[in-house]
Amino acid sequence: MILNFFDLKGKVALITGCNTGLGQGIAVGLAQAGCDIIGVNRSDPHETMNEVTRLGRRFLNLKADLGKIDAIPSLLETAVREFGKIDILVNNAGIIRREDALNFSEKDWDDVMDVNIKTLFFMAQAVAKQYVSQGTGGKIINIASMLSFQGGIRVPSYTASKSAVLGITRLLANEWGQYGINVNAIAPGYMVTNNTQQLRTNEERNQQILERIPAGRWGSPEDIMGPIVFLASAASDYVNGYTLAVDGGWLAR
Ligand code: NAP
Repeated sequence: MILNFFDLKGKVALITGCNTGLGQGIAVGLAQAGCDIIGVNRSDPHETMNEVTRLGRRFLNLKADLGKIDAIPSLLETAVREFGKIDILVNNAGIIRREDALNFSEKDWDDVMDVNIKTLFFMAQAVAKQYVSQGTGGKIINIASMLSFQGGIRVPSYTASKSAVLGITRLLANEWGQYGINVNAIAPGYMVTNNTQQLRTNEERNQQILERIPAGRWGSPEDIMGPIVFLASAASDYVNGYTLAVDGGWLAR
């Protein structure tokens, strides 16, 4: 039966940056669908941990600063030691820096590129190696952005990194499809999280954004749950290399 394809009972999902925002929604959505969760966080994820364990699922937190990639091998080692396997990776952690392109600093370039694309790639590589050694295949879901499709303004390193997420998602699907690995991305529209606080408190920008969203509202972490469960489950086994917009219709305008 088709609904059984969405069932994630017994699956293990590793999610970066799930103490808040979209990552928290992703963790709770996957736990509701049956997953145990491994969070990789630099901040305390107690809120997410409480929600996941209230659902009767396991939650293991691994502390790491994802601005660097040196922690990745030990993260994977601990995850596999504790759970025996990984089935799903969600590369969610990401940052944004806002400044005119004329004044944009090297630090704001490097900090954003390091978390949003460099670490994302090396996490995907490490987890894909694990999938290959497990002989199971698996799912990798990268969190992209509207700025994977559009230019944006005053966020040059964010646009460069999120456009790269769309490209690397395609490349990895091409290389790893043969191992039964699906690599897809979700491009959220304008969602209510820390990432967009500055935009939402600017009355003029807030109004401009709202007027362009056919759904007539900002998105929420709950809006990501259905698409993430779909891409994490057997229901999407023949979907590979695709970036799915979850944007209330923003890109249709
Ligand atoms: P958020 O609330 O700021 O969450 C970002 C997450 O990434 C937090 O858990 C954060 O941890 C973590 N993170 C950032 N840098 C890290 C580092 N060096 N090491 C470890 N963790 C780190 O924003 P969000 O909106 O939920 O963002 C989640 C993803 O969605 C990001 O990739 C973002 O680009 C993407 N996105 C968001 C929107 C939107 O409208 N909100 C739209 C498109 C795409 P801390 O709490 O410790 O900082």
